[in-house]
Amino acid sequence: MNNSINHATISSEEIIRPTRLEIDLKILTENFRMIKERVDPAQIMPILKANAYGHGLVRIAQLMQELKADCIGVAVLEEGILLREQGITIPILVLGGIWGNQIPHFLKHDLSITASSVGKLIQIDEIAGQMKRKAKVHLKIDTGLERIGVHFYSAEKLLEATLKCNNVIIEGIFSHFANSDSLDMSYTHLQFERFMNVLRFYEKRSLKIPIRHISKSGSILQMPEANLDMVRPGILLYGVYPSLEIPHTVRVKPASTWKSLVVYFKVIKANFPVGYGSTWQSDHDVRAVTVPVGYGDGYFRSMSHKAEVLIGGKRYPVIGRISMDQIVVNIENDSAFNGDEVVLFGRDRSENITVEELAEWAGTIPYEILTNINTRVPRVYLD
Ligand SMILES: *Cc1c(COP(=O)(O)O)cnc(C)c1O
Repeated sequence: MNNSINHATISSEEIIRPTRLEIDLKILTENFRMIKERVDPAQIMPILKANAYGHGLVRIAQLMQELKADCIGVAVLEEGILLREQGITIPILVLGGIWGNQIPHFLKHDLSITASSVGKLIQIDEIAGQMKRKAKVHLKIDTGLERIGVHFYSAEKLLEATLKCNNVIIEGIFSHFANSDSLDMSYTHLQFERFMNVLRFYEKRSLKIPIRHISKSGSILQMPEANLDMVRPGILLYGVYPSLEIPHTVRVKPASTWKSLVVYFKVIKANFPVGYGSTWQSDHDVRAVTVPVGYGDGYFRSMSHKAEVLIGGKRYPVIGRISMDQIVVNIENDSAFNGDEVVLFGRDRSENITVEELAEWAGTIPYEILTNINTRVPRVYLD
């Protein structure tokens, strides 16, 4: 077992926090291969934004580099710089917008830039010229998400502007789907068609087409024609499906298990309320254990009175309100001991609690469950 602690102040030989996220690098590797098999011959840009969906940005980037991913996608400049500082050398695209005086930092760290308007493209070209460098750029086309990117109906202006830039290399051109997780794919097909129309610009002028990419987890699962030259899997890589209804055309497994330990045992007498607000009590004595995890770790408070955990491969309910650092679990007449493992999500013997289930209890999506796991939860890598 290889312990890795974010912002480590204690060594791995010392006892780390009982609450930890265990990440199985073998499963991640297998998920990567399954996606690759599905999209072949398209290239793969694993998406590692938001601390690699909670799995630990640097370690996952190292793995992706070992697995010969073609490129890494992150959301913000700082994520890209961190990866460069940690020795990641494969191409990195920062998917989000650029603002302020960020452009020199992109160039300095050899990060590919998303150009989402003519103005920004010209700015990139000018600064690259001043720095005597070539900026690597991916053009962002908005085909129907209305977030960033030049609208598909005015994209020609952006593409034409690139022909006058001497200091940029147009590596790629991309767009992003709004509804590819849903079973109704009509809007996704419309977006795809708009994107393909924009790309005619290159054919019409017999120009070399940059790397075309639009597909993410949802469309990798249900729209192979959108693979184009490269795909951008995020949540699927981590073994979680983007929605409940989507067909599982790629077999992936959850790469992480969120675990803690029993740290306290007691009997709660009948009619003694549990937790802040005294929202739960029993009409009979129950055995209960305390587990050191709470909303301060990203175990959503909104899961109070719904959440369950696994102890010894059996499901037990969390009782009372989830507090910042602790939860209380009702084990009724069963026994549990200090140091027993508690699974918050993941498999324990024949039982399994999924990230999707936590999302349902919290009234959110699996993405938010994963990205919300706080950095004070140590990431432990199994390889
Ligand atoms: C987050 C993101 C992805 C990955 O989405 P998933 O649904 O997790 O696969 C792909 N492309 C862009 C631009 C993104 O922001």
